[in-house]
Amino acid sequence: MELASARHLLSAQTTEFLDRTHHQMLIDGAWVPAASGARIEVINPASEEVIATVPAAATQDVEHAVQAARRAFESGPWPKLKPVDRQRLMLKLADLIEGQAQTFAEIESLDNGKSAAIALAVDVGQAIDVLRYMAGWATKIEGTCTQVSVPYMPGAEFLSYTRREAVGVVAIVIPWNFPLMMAVWKLGPALSAGCTVVLKPAEQTPLSALMLGELIQQAGFPPGVVNIITGDGRHAGAPLVRHPSVNKVSFTGSTEVGKLIGHAAVDNMTRFTLELGGKSPVIVLDDCDPTTAAAGAAQAIFFNHGQVCCAGSRLYVHKKIFDRVVADVALIAEQMPMGHGLDPASQIGPLISRPQLDRVCSYIESGIEQGATLIAGGQRSDLPGYYVRPTVMANVNPSMRIMKEEIFGPVLTAMPFDDLDDIAAWANDTPYGLGASIWSNNLSKVNRLIPKIKAGTVWVNCHSVLDPAMPFGGYKQSGIGRDLGKASLESYLETKSVIIAV
Ligand code: ADP
Repeated sequence: MELASARHLLSAQTTEFLDRTHHQMLIDGAWVPAASGARIEVINPASEEVIATVPAAATQDVEHAVQAARRAFESGPWPKLKPVDRQRLMLKLADLIEGQAQTFAEIESLDNGKSAAIALAVDVGQAIDVLRYMAGWATKIEGTCTQVSVPYMPGAEFLSYTRREAVGVVAIVIPWNFPLMMAVWKLGPALSAGCTVVLKPAEQTPLSALMLGELIQQAGFPPGVVNIITGDGRHAGAPLVRHPSVNKVSFTGSTEVGKLIGHAAVDNMTRFTLELGGKSPVIVLDDCDPTTAAAGAAQAIFFNHGQVCCAGSRLYVHKKIFDRVVADVALIAEQMPMGHGLDPASQIGPLISRPQLDRVCSYIESGIEQGATLIAGGQRSDLPGYYVRPTVMANVNPSMRIMKEEIFGPVLTAMPFDDLDDIAAWANDTPYGLGASIWSNNLSKVNRLIPKIKAGTVWVNCHSVLDPAMPFGGYKQSGIGRDLGKASLESYLETKSVIIAV
């Protein structure tokens, strides 16, 4: 749907934001263009229309932003703020986001293609919850006081304790699938710990980060504490993560780019957290009600149009109920209304971009070429925008590309299993290890299976359920470190040992 005809569906604040079209970046408390003057077009994936342009940051802009973050970290009001003051600012920001929740949801829908209703409940709702949760940690950062022995210094006495100190300037580089939520997953613990930040949203979805920047200013964060630069990975992301004055990189995105970032970070001994790709299994045991399992499996893969790093993209069902579950998932897929995200009835929106659409479709074609059977979907849509029908494929085997590689679209592969002893090995037969779900009410079987699954999260009778208090991240090539929970906060803190001879 063209923006002109969708305007009546948008709040006044959203139209006011979009009417600005010529957005700037936030560096050192000021809204600025890129030094080069270059700009990037922002496209609505539901209509292929350019809805805004943003600055295309490059090395010089990265330099300004990192220096601003460095100054704010070393001097100025930020390092002098008490934990309770950081907490108060973060809670105020959460309130401001809540006040603009509908606008954020609409912007996210136009920028990313996702459902505005889902964005309101999930993306914006989680951003608010995570900020509030992380604000709470600011006043609870603590070291330990330890009685030491130092046996080789008989008679000496010491007072020994550890201090937790903010790691410093944090570079946050995030993907396009949950733009606001990803930004806050990382901003929350960074600010709570007392760090300063340079945030680079994905080039496809920069708008909610810029709106967030306005609220960061309104909340009263000192200049330079949060800097937001827009630009692509090559010209803005790469110089940012390589900058010697950056102390930590927090990245969510592809495993390929994550590895590049990890290598670059190690050169400077920059700390890093990488939340990367996935190929998460959904395992349905034979005691399961097929209807419940099918609804769960459909939600696990089709939520956010499959553009979820922990999407349940490999379905393994016990052979006793395989045909029934797969037929039900296929029926759900066929019946999911497809359309733009401002339509409350729409359940499947467009993919993020034409390259992503082509990539997903080429995976479907490769599956068919390698002998898989298409049970549902498989086609692009005639609508303008980057739509592909939710797709279910069976007759698959572990050597197929569609079983091995992350597709990042609404494509499910389904395979039967017979022996419970095989299933952990099959589930783990992937370089990834982000999530997995087990569907069963057999407590004993479930609890025997959980320790065998090599994944950062195992869900039982649910999938992709995330909470601010539960750490989220990957085993194996799905990443290093954790977002969310106390584990995340810890990764924005250094530990300093203090030993005082008394
Ligand atoms: P996707 O394949 O989902 O687009 P990417 O891993 O390519 O995910 O991108 C995720 C984020 O990483 C985006 O913000 C992108 O601009 C950024 N990025 C891409 N390449 C690099 C790079 N070489 N260095 C730093 N950031 C990068």
